[in-house]
Amino acid sequence: MKTLWLEFPIRVLFAAAMLSAFRGGRLWAASGDQATGWRAGVATAKITPQEPMGMAGYAQRNRPSKGVIRDLFAKALALEDAAGGKLVIVTMDEHMVPHDLREHVARETAARYGLKSEELLVNASHTHCGPELRTDDRFFDHAGKELREPAVRYRAWLEGRLVELVGEALNTRSTGRLEHSHARAGFAMNRRRPEPDGRVSLGAYPSGPVDHEVPVLKVTSSQGKLRAVLFGYACHNTTFGGDEYQINGDYAGFAQANLEASYPGATALFIQGCAGDQDPYPRVNLVPDQPAVELARQHGRALANAVSTALAAGLKPVGGPLTSVLRYADVPYKMLTRAEVEGRLAQEKLPAVREHMRKVLEQIVNGTAAKSYAWPIQVVQFGKDLTLVAMGGEPVVDYSLRIKRELPGAARVWVAGYSNDGYLYLGTGKVIGEGGYEGYSANLRMMNNPGPLASSAEEIVVGKVHELWRRLNP
Ligand SMILES: [Zn+2]
Repeated sequence: MKTLWLEFPIRVLFAAAMLSAFRGGRLWAASGDQATGWRAGVATAKITPQEPMGMAGYAQRNRPSKGVIRDLFAKALALEDAAGGKLVIVTMDEHMVPHDLREHVARETAARYGLKSEELLVNASHTHCGPELRTDDRFFDHAGKELREPAVRYRAWLEGRLVELVGEALNTRSTGRLEHSHARAGFAMNRRRPEPDGRVSLGAYPSGPVDHEVPVLKVTSSQGKLRAVLFGYACHNTTFGGDEYQINGDYAGFAQANLEASYPGATALFIQGCAGDQDPYPRVNLVPDQPAVELARQHGRALANAVSTALAAGLKPVGGPLTSVLRYADVPYKMLTRAEVEGRLAQEKLPAVREHMRKVLEQIVNGTAAKSYAWPIQVVQFGKDLTLVAMGGEPVVDYSLRIKRELPGAARVWVAGYSNDGYLYLGTGKVIGEGGYEGYSANLRMMNNPGPLASSAEEIVVGKVHELWRRLNP
């Protein structure tokens, strides 16, 4: 009788403890090894265009692509925690992620595989030697209007291929472990150079802010074999210049190829960081006897070496639960005056940009210009170990530095840009105040915007990151 009395509450307590441990997928607390309990799958697709294309990244190009230095690839990493929490990261050797491309892939992967929108992260490496993914007429004005049709065909094919790729990654899921680490690579340099007259020009500025961290997520099978390595870096993928017409993934393409050669059977996935004001140095035309392709190979080697170093540098287990949230911050444009746009129009030489500015002028006059941009911000939480913040567009490096500094908690923080949407530079209040390429002119000239962003952009975006982080870390 006495023993029964003792036994009963202990059993109830044990059952209650198991139940609470399992709720929210928190079985890891009791499992001993936090890094296990995962299922991971990975898949690769070659996405090199099969015909000459209009190329993305440099407005001065006046003809289609010719030849291939290295194939382009899209890759998908599907992760699932012990409670079924999922995330699929799609990385690709492309210039940007067009908003409607992501929407298409999210819609189709929801319908076919039951993947929720916030469980999908799509990142572009920002290579400037890939195809133009925008299909508006104006982006082919300079290189040749006949290049629009191949772009439309390629876009449709790419969207379908990415949907299949996500399915392939989900289908290859098997048990494994996750670990994270980081190392450093030094070739990224700030490119916002202050000039004596107070302007900011595009050029190497060694005294400006950088983020040389190379974050790494290691995925191992239950037999201990390396299956995938996801790595990041905050640097424009622009070792090649606008005089290059051969398709290739620039330094990030070479880095992935190097890693896949070093670790046979493993898939290397590159995720671009907050590279808005970062260029790889040296780059095209800077070293007399080194063509851009050699420099891109060298940067690729340096980045791959940093990843290998990270794999040997104090890997830490990554546990679940895996949770994610994706929301859009309403980031206002700076409302330009008619006189301001007229002034810029008078200086503009490129016909396609002049045409765009005339449209902006018309919108300002009749009051139809968009007031704000819906900026995608995704936060992914891996238990208490790792936080991945993925922002749209081209955030300057200060976002990476600030978010890593500010997010509370002990989890390692990884900040990516170029995710889920693109075609807009995200300056900080300081950068927007200074103007220059990322703070003013690129947003007005090169993309479909009614002007640059308002200086309140930084606080709105960072505020949203904090809000989403709190949602996942109550
Ligand atoms: Zn860019």
